[in-house]
Amino acid sequence: MSIVPESERPNPYSAYGAHGSVLVLNSGSSSLKYQLVNPVGGEAIAAGTIERIGEAGDAKGIVTHTYGGNRTRREADVPDHGEALRIALGLFDEIGPRLSDAGIYAVGHRVVHGGAEFSGPVVVDDDVVDRIESLVPLAPLHNPANVQGIRVARELLGDVPHVAVFDTAFFQALPAEAYTYAIDREVAAAHDVRRYGFHGTSHQYVAGKVARVLGRRVQDLHTIVLHLGNGASASAVKGGVPIDTSMGLTPLEGLVMGTRSGDVDPAVVFHLARNAGMDIDELDTLLNKRSGVLGLSGVNDFRELRRLIDDGDEDAALAFDVYVHRLKKYVGAYAALLGRVDVVAFTAGVGENDAAVRAAVCEGLEGLGIAVDPERNAARGGERIVSPDWTSTLVMVVPTMEELAIARQCVEAVEHLSPASAVTSG
Ligand code: ADP
Repeated sequence: MSIVPESERPNPYSAYGAHGSVLVLNSGSSSLKYQLVNPVGGEAIAAGTIERIGEAGDAKGIVTHTYGGNRTRREADVPDHGEALRIALGLFDEIGPRLSDAGIYAVGHRVVHGGAEFSGPVVVDDDVVDRIESLVPLAPLHNPANVQGIRVARELLGDVPHVAVFDTAFFQALPAEAYTYAIDREVAAAHDVRRYGFHGTSHQYVAGKVARVLGRRVQDLHTIVLHLGNGASASAVKGGVPIDTSMGLTPLEGLVMGTRSGDVDPAVVFHLARNAGMDIDELDTLLNKRSGVLGLSGVNDFRELRRLIDDGDEDAALAFDVYVHRLKKYVGAYAALLGRVDVVAFTAGVGENDAAVRAAVCEGLEGLGIAVDPERNAARGGERIVSPDWTSTLVMVVPTMEELAIARQCVEAVEHLSPASAVTSG
């Protein structure tokens, strides 16, 4: 298999031709990221971030807006998400492009948790907002900001459809044996305890993109996707359908991440509660914010980790080894579940940029038909094959484009689905 040149790939999205651009909003607890995207060509027309929303004291928010190759950065008072969006809309007017000229077709909202209710993108109405809010107990750190972002955006941009795109939606197709935790079934059912999986937009996009760039049908491919950003997750995708993923009830399970532990014995929690006197919030912070690569080495950015390793720092070297060891275990496990692996696809900040991580994960997996070619692996660029010609499995780097994937799902939702048909019975 080889890469089909871009100019020879059919563009299945050209039917979207008449639809203008989509404004994609990603509301975090203290940030708003936005991107104006052309869902057909895929280019980001403009993008920006507003950080430090609602910080106490004299701290100002940091605002950046990029358009036409120029990046503007300034400080502003940003008490809440409403003001953040007002500032963003003001920047479109002031710096460009004017949204009236860009012809906004829809606003797409990235929502972290869709529970078992949402298995696809959904056009937002009041009922959908209420349902997303009802899922706050499952995602107390994320869904409140998502709900606030949607409410404010519907007020300020009332004349276009709004679409919610869920990080969990792709993984609603997991089989029961993959999403069921082996705990008392009545307790699990009463409290919605199961695997949901996250980064679904990225896993779905990358699995589809792999097929497209290889000129194959996604139905014919068995793919392991490794989304390695600050948060990190793996998935096994068989014929376009996920059969397992590493994140669980929350994004804490699975791989070692920038600041999250990933898999630990759940009894670590009981042990620390009983013996270290830590309460639930302290344990939550420990495993989500003070663990992972940061907890082991003191840094969470892989560029800094590399510098420490090169300087002979033993903690950093161990953090790298623990990170890679966990990844290898997931690759092996997913190879067993898939039976045959056609492609291992690396994506997101670490997966796309860190050749040493890719090489270390694939080292010694020749028996599984997985290897990287040092020269190909060291090269930079867009989607590419980094394995040697003799392997049965392709190792690829496929840049993820979550905003574009969200924009395309918006168009699909507005064109084809009513909110009710995208909501499963749960
Ligand atoms: P997220 O969306 O989860 O915040 P990203 O996918 O943007 O994360 O990935 C961010 C991470 O990618 C950084 O924390 C850093 O560890 C890693 N990263 C980014 N650029 C590079 C690079 N050139 N080399 C190695 N790692 C990189």
